[in-house]
Amino acid sequence: MDYSSLFGVGVVVDILTGYVVDFEIMCKVCRFCSNAANQLGKESAEFNIWYEGHRNECDINHTGSSGSMELKASEVLWKPFHFVGVQIYYCFI
Ligand SMILES: [Zn+2]
Repeated sequence: MDYSSLFGVGVVVDILTGYVVDFEIMCKVCRFCSNAANQLGKESAEFNIWYEGHRNECDINHTGSSGSMELKASEVLWKPFHFVGVQIYYCFI
């Protein structure tokens, strides 16, 4: 992964079948937020009011560095598989 990436994808692959069993897309940008910030001003009260209505559907789910996307994706993907009997192997590309 390029460490200036705005997007990242983490996947869980079953090593026996090769099938992708889960994935997480990490995103640092949202086109709706960008458009609203350009039109209303990022620091304006109007933008904050607009954002409160948009927050639940915003594409941004990562605000840290691009390099930390791997860790965040693994945290999200780890939880459902974190029970006895499942072995987890990580490989980030
Ligand atoms: Zn947004």
